[in-house]
Amino acid sequence: MIYADNAATTRMSETAIQTMTSLMNENWGNPSSLYVHGQKAKEALEKAREEIASVIGANAREILFTSGGSEADNQIILSAAGLGEKNGKKHIISSAFEHHAVLHTLKKLEREGFEITLLDVHENGIVDPSQVEDAIRDDTCLVTIMYANNEIGTIQPIRKIGEICRRKHVLFHTDAVQAIGHIPVDVAADNIDLLSASAHKFHGPKGVGFLYAKKGIRLQSLIEGGAQERGLRAGTENVPGIAAMAAALKEAQEGMETAAAHQKKMRDKLIEGLKQIPHCALNGDAARRLPGNVNFCFEGIEGESLLLLLDDKGICASSGSACTSGSLDPSHVLLAIGRVHDVAHGSLRLSIGETITEEEADYIIRSVREVVEYLRGFSPIWRDLMSGKKEFIL
Ligand SMILES: *Cc1c(COP(=O)(O)O)cnc(C)c1O
Repeated sequence: MIYADNAATTRMSETAIQTMTSLMNENWGNPSSLYVHGQKAKEALEKAREEIASVIGANAREILFTSGGSEADNQIILSAAGLGEKNGKKHIISSAFEHHAVLHTLKKLEREGFEITLLDVHENGIVDPSQVEDAIRDDTCLVTIMYANNEIGTIQPIRKIGEICRRKHVLFHTDAVQAIGHIPVDVAADNIDLLSASAHKFHGPKGVGFLYAKKGIRLQSLIEGGAQERGLRAGTENVPGIAAMAAALKEAQEGMETAAAHQKKMRDKLIEGLKQIPHCALNGDAARRLPGNVNFCFEGIEGESLLLLLDDKGICASSGSACTSGSLDPSHVLLAIGRVHDVAHGSLRLSIGETITEEEADYIIRSVREVVEYLRGFSPIWRDLMSGKKEFIL
């Protein structure tokens, strides 16, 4: 099997698994308990907090553990909205291609009377900082723009956007779930006030993540209960998961340069190889994208069929379309960058890992070419395109 869906989730690293099992076997006490057995778990928890903080240039007290990226996004956005409301500020700026954990939270706030501005994304999949600056108003309480997009991998000018928000005294949040552990992220240098991250996107376990909230920003709790996480996140901490997350992050950070260099080489090889297929287009900027992300649209085919046939060839990939979730809507990300419905339906995302080989990349290129050609062979849309009944877009 060739796993090329690392944007969906990653395999846990050996170090993360070992850290997790050793805590499960040995330090399994409740970190809130006062005896030594509990306090050892507490130590593991605080060590993880410090390690994570140091990777992103934060202070340990600014890190809060959550159940993952979605919870972090929800808690941050709802907290910032609450703070804004207190000051009569009920306007939030975001982009049209955010993750649903952000977009759906904003929808909920909209129903509660907040005004949401969703910025257009350019064809290259990058938000222009001047768009953010122009959208900021006196009543803006939050700007939330993702660090890197999960479908098309484009990296946003976060430092610039953060600089604008700081100058305008508006809180700035970034969903950095796809960036952390893959490209350098530094909350101080990048002018970030609030950040979300998830362990399973950087070879840690699922169901655990963290958020960063700059000192002085008062968060709201989403879950009522005990006083864990300074009263901001009730519930006994997932100590093994949190320790494994820290171990995975440290490992990812240490190996980042080497991994990224190899991934970029393989990414560009895949892009070159797939570009040869007629009537296709790369989605998102070719250079300003995550080292492991390749995303194409192929005219005249359905992404779903492409995925199933690639699965038969032992390749795990993903399509931008949300068909799997029972809806026939094409990806909101591809629509946001201006792809029309027909074209957006024929999309393929390959998110490659650090271990991909040249041979595997060659095999992927060969397989995608074969499958696209095969599917076009009996696609009515393709027939219409070829006969001139319909015009090619790509
Ligand atoms: C995966 C992902 C999330 C959700 O993280 P979970 O830990 O699965 O809740 C949020 N934002 C982005 C950009 C993601 O890729």
